[in-house]
Amino acid sequence: MPMDDFARHCCQNPDCPEHGRRGAGNLSVCGHYGKNHHRLLYCKACKARFSEFKGTPYFNAKLPHDKVTGVLEHLDDGCGTRQTARLVGVCKDTVTRLALLAGPHAKDTHDEVVAFSPGDPRGPVRREVGVRG
Ligand SMILES: [Zn+2]
Repeated sequence: MPMDDFARHCCQNPDCPEHGRRGAGNLSVCGHYGKNHHRLLYCKACKARFSEFKGTPYFNAKLPHDKVTGVLEHLDDGCGTRQTARLVGVCKDTVTRLALLAGPHAKDTHDEVVAFSPGDPRGPVRREVGVRG
């Protein structure tokens, strides 16, 4: 496995100038965590640290990673939620949740927005809250 496979990752700090930019060269591995030795990534631009899985369906999934992968593969093959749940052996709600999480990642066209785009499909943020600094 190559050490510089960060093209798929981007900084998860919304305040970072490199936030959402993949392959910008700002990330490096600063450690490992957990029994599976998942990598902890470090962003040179903002000095943030985060899990390599943050912003992906793997993060905080209460499932073994191979099950998450199985769900995503079946969805990718065009299986429905119920069918995928049965084939992989997980609950249907779990499949639904993973499908939502995987949405932006399944399509590489969303490079700029990535992880934090569950929000407004109509685009720019609408400022309805009248809070003034
Ligand atoms: Zn950053």
